[in-house]
Amino acid sequence: MIFKDIGLSPEVLRAVDDAGYETPTPIQEKAIPYVLQGRDLLGCAQTGTGKTAGFTLPMIDILSHGRARARMPRALILEPTRELAFQVAENFEIYGKYQKLSMALLIGGVSFADQAKKIDRGVDVLIATPGRLLDHVERGQLMLTGVQVFVIDEADRMLDMGFIPDIERIVKLLPPLRQTLFFSATMPPEIRRLADKFLSNPREVSVAPPASPAETVRQGMSIVRPGSEKREALRRLMRAENAEAGLIFCNRKRDVDILMRSLKRHGFNAAALHGDMSQPARMETLENFKSGEISFLVASDVAARGLDISGLPYVFNFDVPTHAEDYIHRIGRTGRAGRPGTALTLATSADGKYVSGIERLIGKPIPKFEIEGSQGGELDAEEPRRGRGRGRGRGGEKRNDRGRARSSAKAQPEKAAAQEAKSEPVASAKPAKAVSSAPAEKPVASDKTKDKREAKKSAEPKPEKKRNAKKSRRDAKSGKRRESSEKSVGFADNMPAFMARPVELPARTPKRDKEAAK
Ligand code: AMP
Repeated sequence: MIFKDIGLSPEVLRAVDDAGYETPTPIQEKAIPYVLQGRDLLGCAQTGTGKTAGFTLPMIDILSHGRARARMPRALILEPTRELAFQVAENFEIYGKYQKLSMALLIGGVSFADQAKKIDRGVDVLIATPGRLLDHVERGQLMLTGVQVFVIDEADRMLDMGFIPDIERIVKLLPPLRQTLFFSATMPPEIRRLADKFLSNPREVSVAPPASPAETVRQGMSIVRPGSEKREALRRLMRAENAEAGLIFCNRKRDVDILMRSLKRHGFNAAALHGDMSQPARMETLENFKSGEISFLVASDVAARGLDISGLPYVFNFDVPTHAEDYIHRIGRTGRAGRPGTALTLATSADGKYVSGIERLIGKPIPKFEIEGSQGGELDAEEPRRGRGRGRGRGGEKRNDRGRARSSAKAQPEKAAAQEAKSEPVASAKPAKAVSSAPAEKPVASDKTKDKREAKKSAEPKPEKKRNAKKSRRDAKSGKRRESSEKSVGFADNMPAFMARPVELPARTPKRDKEAAK
């Protein structure tokens, strides 16, 4: 099929043509006609399949008739993270450039007043994270009764991040007569239950079996020794592969910084991205990575989820993700839109249970390879204690993850690890077997000033920490998952709004007081 036959307007087709797209991707081919018909849609699609255009292109055409009214958006797109919301907004601008639709991006970390002003003027489309959207509603700045098209994107991530109560509240504020488009990369039973609740007689489209990693991604795994030897193994691997750019995932925020500093010391042009960074710093880092000014981005799962960096050749898993689904999300950053990509994972022998969890989920073993001088033995054979689903039964999962974090912290306390990263011999990194030694990359001169700025920032006391400690206690009660780190606690900037709402206590009466005193 070609785009011309899919039913989109000439204006949208022109924008698609400008974007350089020749044919619709499978999800676009399946979803766009239904969305144009006004049907509800349940889409099971991985990131990188072109699903954003799958809903934004027809939405632009649906909204092209009609006008925005003050404080009453006509379409609402919910995204789990600010980065994703930002990315969808960027897409919307590209695809809607020949239409006169207005759009507002409601995400945390940026001025409330500017967002309110924009809503006040009237917007056609709101792209929002749930917490900030509810904040605006609660301040009386926004009414959702005019929403004709409602999109829930990355529903499985919403579930994982504890946003479902917020979404249920938001859905209650929407008119019952609306079109709902619901997308998720995986379709566990609780996601299906939610879809049943929010959608009315939906058409289902699926472009890959749930939880199957993109076919275009070359995968591999090497068993290495932990600690500084693991960092050395990563450097050897990066050099052996002649990797010019890539995203490197760590399980813990603490390790993101340690690894980033270590890579820089060894001549790699690297930066860090995690949920404790301020929003402007996150955006700046991302922009620098997208533009190629930064070659390697060391990231945590929450910060890098769903990032669309076109043509990203490599994903390195410095740690095996403890949640099998994160493996799919991570490797989905490469091999996007049919382009080839490589995802290489470093495992230690203790990761056996997590590796088998991942291999069960993807339905095949990850090919193993050796990095010369860095072999770390065999994977242990222990079965993972957790099931496939996430978001429930967290007690067990959490204990598991936290237990791991604690024991490794014990073996390698933070200070010692940081010190170790500093004192690693730079010259010790030898190229891996059978590959010509790629010259180590030189640190970029402009990084020096950035380093200083970053060092200054991290030396400054963070007023958010206290608040985060409180949030953490609330997290423990509500069973939410967050990026695991000993330094940062709580949701950082991803706290769902319902957790911040004041609790209304019942009025005191003599009878209640008596009962309470018993
Ligand atoms: P998404 O899965 O929506 O994050 O999209 C992944 C990438 O695919 C983005 O970089 C899009 O620009 C790109 N893309 C979307 N649709 C097409 C298409 N029909 N042809 C080529 N690239 C596309």
